[in-house]
Amino acid sequence: MVTKAYGAYSGDKPLELMLIERREPGAHDVAIEIAFCGVCHSDLHQVRGEWAGTLYPCVPGHEIVGHVTAIGSAVTGFAVGETVGVGCMVDSCQHCSSCEEGLEQYCDSGFVGTYNGVTGDAPGHTLGGYAQSIVVNDKFVLKINHPEEQLAAVAPLLCAGITTWSPLRHWNVGPGKKVGIVGIGGLGHMGVKLAHALGAHVVAFTTSENKREAALDLGADEVVVSRNAVEMAAHAGSFDFILNTVAASHDLDAFTSLLKRDATMTLVGVPEHPHPSPSVGALIFRRRSIAGSLIGGIAETQEMLDFCARHGVVADIEMIPIQNIDEAFDRMQRSDVKYRFVIDNATLEA
Ligand code: NAP
Ligand code: ZN
Repeated sequence: MVTKAYGAYSGDKPLELMLIERREPGAHDVAIEIAFCGVCHSDLHQVRGEWAGTLYPCVPGHEIVGHVTAIGSAVTGFAVGETVGVGCMVDSCQHCSSCEEGLEQYCDSGFVGTYNGVTGDAPGHTLGGYAQSIVVNDKFVLKINHPEEQLAAVAPLLCAGITTWSPLRHWNVGPGKKVGIVGIGGLGHMGVKLAHALGAHVVAFTTSENKREAALDLGADEVVVSRNAVEMAAHAGSFDFILNTVAASHDLDAFTSLLKRDATMTLVGVPEHPHPSPSVGALIFRRRSIAGSLIGGIAETQEMLDFCARHGVVADIEMIPIQNIDEAFDRMQRSDVKYRFVIDNATLEA
């Protein structure tokens, strides 16, 4: 089945309209007409070649929501017309210990990404959600229980939501915990909303003075402009957990020094260039840790979506037509988005 998509033929070229092939749904497949797709900073890193190993043509997009148009003969969990989502993964080995524990993102064989993953389908690598349709194994399709009118704002939950939810849950964020969220972009603004909904005391760290008020509206109890050393010093040694979502290389010591004894800062940002090596002194004197976390498993993604539907949590978005994608990337690079661009995939028809 041929479908319209937007992608790039190399890292230094703008995205353009292209026709791509989707496989006919197999027994376990769900075919989805994509309504909206969020724009993650990973899309920019990948398609512009900031990360090694981009396979071209590259069609990004892993915050996909839409409606089921067909199901394979063995699919029992989904019906035609149902509202569904697809996140960062479309397959994994299904039998290693991580897959068996529902942590497919840590699959021993490596999960298959929604784009840039190895597949038997043409052209040999997966092509993502900047497209009219997609065909996905039913184990990697999520149910959306939000009201239909919120659908565009649900899309970012499929990556930004789960990538912040998973570490917040793993490191037991909840009532009585003081939690820092660093970088108030697509991931960070979801981190603030989710940590607040989980009952924690939330401090937002931003480099953007103009996000000071806005971060309070997201649910932060306090906002710190991280370029201000006096504001930073006031929080020394006080955090139970810090989630760092910054997409660029920066000084980690400024944040590890804010952790309590035995507390952890978890990195989810994957900058093009490495961070300066952290100070060992800032770690050993209070037995502090720096950790990392990768998206989240399918079961916990469903758990997060259901939690958000119950608590009325969605992303704050700016909708764009697909034709404006390169301008959106440039603005995201400058941190000029509150807080997530979402593509109206119907504009692929234009
Ligand atoms: P984003 O919307 O661009 O947000 C990143 C934020 O980081 C910006 O809004 C900005 O916040 C801050 N920032 C940017 N440049 C900075 C700098 N030079 N110094 C300090 N702060 C800076 O990006 P995103 O979509 O949230 O993604 C964030 C990162 O996570 C990306 O690297 C992405 O690839 C990665 N990611 C990782 C996973 C995973 O599984 N681990 C999943 C998805 C994405 P302020 O304006 O508030 O300072
Ligand atoms: Zn993403």
